[in-house]
Amino acid sequence: MTGTGVGEALVTLTDVSAGYGNTHVLHDINFTVREDQFTGILGPSGAGKTTMLRLLLGSLKPQSGTITRAPKLAVSYVPQLETVDWNFPITVFECVLMSRTARRLLPWATPSEKADVASVLERLGIGDLSHRHIRELSGGQQQRMFLARALLRKPAMLLLDEPTSGVDFSTRHDVLHLLADLHEDGMSIVLTTHDLNGMAAHLPHLVCVNHHIVASGTPQEVITPEVLEGTFGARMEVLQHLGVPVVVEDSRTAG
Ligand code: ADP
Repeated sequence: MTGTGVGEALVTLTDVSAGYGNTHVLHDINFTVREDQFTGILGPSGAGKTTMLRLLLGSLKPQSGTITRAPKLAVSYVPQLETVDWNFPITVFECVLMSRTARRLLPWATPSEKADVASVLERLGIGDLSHRHIRELSGGQQQRMFLARALLRKPAMLLLDEPTSGVDFSTRHDVLHLLADLHEDGMSIVLTTHDLNGMAAHLPHLVCVNHHIVASGTPQEVITPEVLEGTFGARMEVLQHLGVPVVVEDSRTAG
C-alpha cells in the first residue's frame, strides 16, 4: 500500500491561497489527490486542515490559485463527530437513508434504496443497530454510521475530518482498518489528523500542514524532529518501534 496515488488526478490545487473574508489561512498550496491515494493531512489545531478538506470538497473557493477536478467526480465527506446534533430524533437507518433521499422532492425511499442502506450497514458491522436512535451509539458506531452515509454515494474520493478524534483505542484501530479496506477496494481517501502516534504514523502518506505545506511523504520521511518542529512549532523526539516512528515530547524543552 503506497498511498501516494498512481492513477488519474482527481483534484489538483495549484498555488492556492484560501481563508475566510480577509483572513488568510492557507497559502501556496500545491497538492494533488489521485486515484488510489490514502493521505493524512497532519497539523496542529488551527493549521488549516479542515480548510484544505473544504477546498477538496469544493465547498470553499480559493482566494487565489486554481483548483481543477476530474469531471463528474463523486466525493463524500465525513464530518467531525463533535459537530453533529446527536439529539435529532432519528434512527440509524433513517439517518443513513436520508443521505440518499434528502436531495429530492419526494423524500420516501424505493425498495432498492432501502436494500442499499441495509447492505452498507451490514458491511460496516452495524446492521443490527439499524433501529437504534443515533444518540444511543458509541463513538465508533457513530463513526461507522457516517461512513455508511458517505459510502452510499459510492465516492471515488472520501474525505474525513479527524475520524478518530474522541474515540477509544480499539475503535481507532477498527476505523483505520476499515479505511485501509476501502482504499484496497480502490477508493481515494484523504483525512485530517493531529494525532501523531495513534493515526499519522500508520498511514501510507502524509502531508504536514501549518498554513502552508511543510513536507509530504511517508511517515518515515516526514515524522522527523525537523519536520515536526516546522509543523507543530515544538521540538519532539522520534523513536522507531517495529518500523513505525513513535513521537515523544522532548523532555528538555517540555514545560
Ligand atoms: P484545523 O482543521 O487545522 O484545526 P481549520 O481549517 O478548521 O483548522 O481553521 C483554520 C483557521 O481558520 C482557524 O483560525 C479557524 O478559526 C479559521 N476558520 C475556520 N473556519 C472558519 C469559518 N467558517 N469562518 C471564519 N474562520 C474560520
